[in-house]
Amino acid sequence: MLYDPTSLWARCLHSIQQKIQPQSFQTWFGPTNSLELCPEKAVIEVPTSFFADWLEEHYSWLIRATVEEETSWKPELEFVVQKEADGPSEFTQTVEPSPPPMLVTPTVTNISSTPSSSLVFPLNPKYRFEQFVVGDSNEFSFTAAKAVADSPGETAFNPLVIYGGVGLGKTHLLQAIGDRCFRNGSGKSIVYVTAEKFFSDYLQAIQKQDTAEYIKIYRNADLLLIDDIQFYVKTEGCQRELIHTFNTLYQNQKQIVLSSDRPPSTLKGFEDRLISRFQWGLVTDIEAPNLETRIAILNCKAEEKGIGLPPEVSRFLAEQVVSNVRELEGVLIRLLTMKSHLSMEINIDLARRALAGIGRLSNNRLPVNIETVQKATSDFFNIPIPLLTGSTRKQDITSARHVCMYLCKSIIGAPLKAIGCEFGNRDHTTVIHACKTVEKKLSVDPAFGTLVTELENKIQSSVPS
Ligand code: ADP
Ligand code: MG
Repeated sequence: MLYDPTSLWARCLHSIQQKIQPQSFQTWFGPTNSLELCPEKAVIEVPTSFFADWLEEHYSWLIRATVEEETSWKPELEFVVQKEADGPSEFTQTVEPSPPPMLVTPTVTNISSTPSSSLVFPLNPKYRFEQFVVGDSNEFSFTAAKAVADSPGETAFNPLVIYGGVGLGKTHLLQAIGDRCFRNGSGKSIVYVTAEKFFSDYLQAIQKQDTAEYIKIYRNADLLLIDDIQFYVKTEGCQRELIHTFNTLYQNQKQIVLSSDRPPSTLKGFEDRLISRFQWGLVTDIEAPNLETRIAILNCKAEEKGIGLPPEVSRFLAEQVVSNVRELEGVLIRLLTMKSHLSMEINIDLARRALAGIGRLSNNRLPVNIETVQKATSDFFNIPIPLLTGSTRKQDITSARHVCMYLCKSIIGAPLKAIGCEFGNRDHTTVIHACKTVEKKLSVDPAFGTLVTELENKIQSSVPS
């Protein structure tokens, strides 16, 4: 039987359009076609391999579900890149020396109606200076962030780089700077963006062969906040673009703030001239909070939710969850949920149950990043890291490598490109393949599942050796 892929795909697109934001639909599904759509196979044509990667990572579940809804088929999904598509070219435009006044509010997300603010991520209203608990571990970063927020572009802290482990408040501080400037009216154009988004907007601009809007947003920013710079994709073109943006803003005395999971000097894959730019201003770190600060944070978060914690309970929780504020918050939410579901008093017993439920009764945990996952996997399988990340195709090593990539994705949520980079500069498709292989094996091999869970638990509760 012959199926017409075009009309079937049009039906699927219509359905997908109802399920996601118009902006996302237009961006990611607008340029797709189906070359083949039958019970065995769905071949979707996309403009570039970046689209293939993005759709695979973010929307494959939605495409599968929609195709099944529309046709009752469960075909294998495959993305192919359009033949005539050109690879990314470089920016050639120069930037106006004096940018026109523009207000990019942090809440605008609609791409079609307000092009000048379309690329901006919204700010989270919870992330304000007033809600940030200051302690020894973060005081310097907090003070520097406030100084910058009060006089963007006018202090010596340009750029300001805040680095530290996962869940220690980097995003909170970056957004607090944006929020303060926005409320003070001290920056006309405030742009908060993750490095991943900054990069994908760049590729999209190139794809559309229209970089004017991208340049208008990013190079005209009065305050540019780039979160998680370690996840910026480090191809030559992307790095050059970042340098251009950086130079333009710096020369115009516009404020740049970056966050990173490690000191700039140890960031991998960036050109030296970028690393040196990252260090022109102030580099400051956030450490894991000490016990007193953790208690204060817990009390503050509980208060925000209108609950008072008995002092012995906040102390007990703060003693157990030591390295990550996000996790501390997670335990508190679990405690409050259990309280209302079980109609119990908040006491040490309930706190213990809240902690036990998420397997967090250990101390001194290390921050989890790609390196720590690699180290734990290397120890677990007794395979040296160079072999694990190298090109050896021996079966046991390949299998451990796949598990390691899979855990980098599932535990840290690192972008595929970032994972590929840390495994000998492999392509993101290799990482996709690794994750799929592991997922497939997990679904059929319980012993393998036990092994992976054991390693995962080790990583989640790793203690410094
Ligand atoms: P990071 O970006 O460093 O991974 P986040 O900024 O996302 O971490 O912080 C994780 C959570 O912990 C957020 O909800 C944030 O509000 C909270 N948090 C972190 N540090 C503090 C602090 N010092 N005071 C209050 N909340 C904090
Ligand atoms: Mg963050």
